[in-house]
Formats: sequence, structure tokens, C-alpha cells
Amino acid sequence: MAELTARLRRLHVLGSVSGLLGWDEQVNLPSAAAEARGAQMALLAELAHAESVAPRLGELLVLAESCLARGELDAEAAVVVRAARRDYDRAVKLPAELVAEKARLSSEAYHAWASARAARDFATFAPYLEKHLEIARREAELLGYGGRPYDLAIDRHDPGLDTARVDALFARLRAGLVPLVRRIDAKGEAARAGGGHAAELKGFDVEAQRRVVREVTAALGFDFSRGRLDVSLHPFCEGSGDDVRLTTRFDSDEPLDALYSSIHEAGHGLYEQGLPRERAGTALGTAAGMAVHESQSRLWENQVARSRAFWRWLEPRFRAAFPRALEGVSGDQLHAAANAVRPGGMIRVDADEVHYNLHILLRFELEKRLFDGSLAVAELPAAWDALAEELLGRRPEHAAEGVLQDVHWSGGAFGYFPSYTLGNMIAAQLWATAKARLPGLEEDFARGDFGRLLGWLRAEVHAHGRREDAFALTRRVTGAELGPEALLAYLDERYG
Ligand code: ZN
Repeated sequence: MAELTARLRRLHVLGSVSGLLGWDEQVNLPSAAAEARGAQMALLAELAHAESVAPRLGELLVLAESCLARGELDAEAAVVVRAARRDYDRAVKLPAELVAEKARLSSEAYHAWASARAARDFATFAPYLEKHLEIARREAELLGYGGRPYDLAIDRHDPGLDTARVDALFARLRAGLVPLVRRIDAKGEAARAGGGHAAELKGFDVEAQRRVVREVTAALGFDFSRGRLDVSLHPFCEGSGDDVRLTTRFDSDEPLDALYSSIHEAGHGLYEQGLPRERAGTALGTAAGMAVHESQSRLWENQVARSRAFWRWLEPRFRAAFPRALEGVSGDQLHAAANAVRPGGMIRVDADEVHYNLHILLRFELEKRLFDGSLAVAELPAAWDALAEELLGRRPEHAAEGVLQDVHWSGGAFGYFPSYTLGNMIAAQLWATAKARLPGLEEDFARGDFGRLLGWLRAEVHAHGRREDAFALTRRVTGAELGPEALLAYLDERYG
């Protein structure tokens, strides 16, 4: 186990070096250095691949498994061995040529996607999507998911989950969500017709925004001695343990975008900072999966930071930072802007909490059909538009507003979208449980004290690493099965 753990840790260190180079690429890279960075990343990927398929690693796994079978290892070691076996088998069973082919295709497809989106022309991107689907099917065949390749796509992001379980959950979500959204939208329309109007938020000094988002994320518990906050085109969180990098973006007319992007990424960062450091590199020190990861970012971003209580604490700080920009804007208007519901939006990343999950239901349905062969790539735009009308109430005006809006498919990242909505479900369940277990939680927020919530998440979620899948984790922490009911109740309470 000591030798196995040491090898897993080396792999983790190599991964963290490429993660750091990837962060640097998006935050600092001089434009002429792209090629050199490409070479650095490629060499690291080669080294990591060689380590991950090392025959000695395979031998150690066989030894550890025989110890397990004889009952000589404890439950913690069992978690480490099983996860390492899964990763090892994937690395060994996928030929290096296929991995390289996918990397090459992703890089070409990314550029093809970007120009197709600019030209609003799906046909030029379609051949790349076809190739990605073909690779995904070959991978599934090689890894033993031949019967249902989409299961592999989901399992990659959320170990333990599969199409049937997600499908059943999403069907229940859809049945409750569609009528709820219609009701909320109708109320919004009536309010606007009755003369309610939103505040205009313009002219927010970027330096002051930078100070505010740092103060807020630090107050939530993000440890800046073990992390940083920088700027990139698309916000993200990279790294783990003692070196967690968050990014955000600033626009003087979009102060809430910087604020909520920063809080969202800080939620991911708090999880990474809360994983057991001494277990780094093993499943015990690794996040449970993308759905649980997303539950952490969404919980802080939505349930906590869009609440009245949070704004009671933030409002005076906001006013002190932006005295001119907030002249004539009331506290109610500020809180309303943070909870604005915008019906008819076609773009997932701009969607509010109420409409967001409809965008995911749409993508899940289409990915499922693409993988089971009932939908051809050529028919995808028409299928997208029809489903958009059914779920979101209107058709996109062009492909950039529809089928070409997301970057995921250009990288062959199928099965990723469901994690966002599963994360929203888990966040709502965790939130309901936290409020019941920790009375007076929202009064804490109004005082700028987020320590009790963070401490609870640390103990109940972060400390457990990848011991359980999303279903088992939710069951243990909340006492209920993972389901859409808490999310529906939360949305109804806040927006209904
Ligand atoms: Zn996220």
C-alpha cells in the first residue's frame, strides 16, 4: 500500500504540474508562447501516461487486491485500491494512439467550433462532432461499455452514475419543473406589466470590484494563503489542497457577473481546500465527482449568496465600494437584480436559476439520442430547435444561439452536462439539511459569518473524498435519496 500510494502521489503531482501550466496558459501566457506551452503540456502528458500504465503499478494492484480478498486491508485502503484499479484499467485499455487522436481532434474541433459559431453554420462543425462520437463509441467498446456507450460518458464525470439513473431523475425533474417555470414566468410578466422595473447597474469601478470579490470570497472561508484569484476570459477553478487557483472576469457594467462567478469558483475552491491533504493523490483525497463538485459551487453561489440574509451583510460593503454607481438604487432593487429571472433566454451560461436546468434537460436528451443512434448529427440542429421550443418556449434564431453555443462537444466532453443539474439537486438537498441541522444559519450570514456552514460541509462532504458516489453521499448526509424534490421546493420558495 505504501508503494502503491507513492506511485499514485507521483501521478497526482504530474497532474498538478499540467494543471498549473493550464492555469497559466489562460491567465498569463504571452501570445507568442503558445507553441512552447503546447510542447510542455504534451511532454507532461506523455510522462503521466507512461506512469499511469507502468507494469509495476499493475503488479501492486494485483497484490493489493489479493490482500483485500483475504481481508487484510481496511475499508479505507479498499477505496484507494478500487479507484486506482478503475483508473489503471482505463489507462491501459485505451491505446496511446486513440488518446493522441482524440487530443488532436479536440484541438482542431475547438477552432472549427469557434469559426462555425461565429459564422452560425453548424455544417462546418458537424464532421468533427461525428468523429468525436465515433471515438467515444470506440472507447466504450474498449472499456466494456459497448452496450451503452453513453454510460461511460456519464461515469467519466460522475463515477457510479449511469444513463438509466440520470434519466429517471430527470424525468421527475421535468414533470415538476416545466409547470413551475411557466407559473414563475407568468408572475414575472404580470409584475412587469404592472410597472415593476429593474435597476440599471452601470459604472462599477473594476479595482473596487476586485477588492469586494476578494473580501467576499475570503469571508466565505477561501484561504488566500493556499490559493489565488486572477482574471481569465472564462472563470474556472484549478488545483487542490494548498494551491487552489480561482479566476473571474470584470466588466464595469456587470458587477454581479464578477461577484457570482467568483463565489461560484470559490465554492469549487473551498471543496478542493477541504479535501484531506494527507490523502492527496488517492481516492480519499479526491473530489467525489463533478455533480458533488458542482453542488458545492452552486450552494455558495445560489442558496447562500442570492439570499436576503447575505445581501444584508453585503449591501453596506457594496455601497461603500461603489457609492456613485449605487446612487438611487435601493437595497430591494439590488437584491432583485441578484435574483433576476429572464424568460426566453437561449444561452445556458446566461440562464438564471429558474431556467437553467431546462437547458440541461435539453442537452441530456440530445446526447442520449446521439449515442443510442436514434438521432443523426445532421438532424441535431432541427432536434435542438424543436426541443428548445418545447422546454424554453421559443426557438433559437440561429445556431450560435442554439446547437453551437457550448464548447463541450468540441472537446468530446459528452456526459458532462448532467453534472450541472445533478449538482443543483444535491445543493438544494444539502441546503435543506443544513438549515434543519444548524438553526439560525441565515442570521449568521447577515453578520458575515459563514463558518458554521463551511464547517458542516467540511465534515459531511469534503472530508470524505471519493469514498461514495453522488447517490450514496446524498443519502448519508441528507437521509434522503438524491431527487429533484428539494430543488423544486427551493425554486418555488425563492421565485414562486
Ligand atoms: Zn462550476
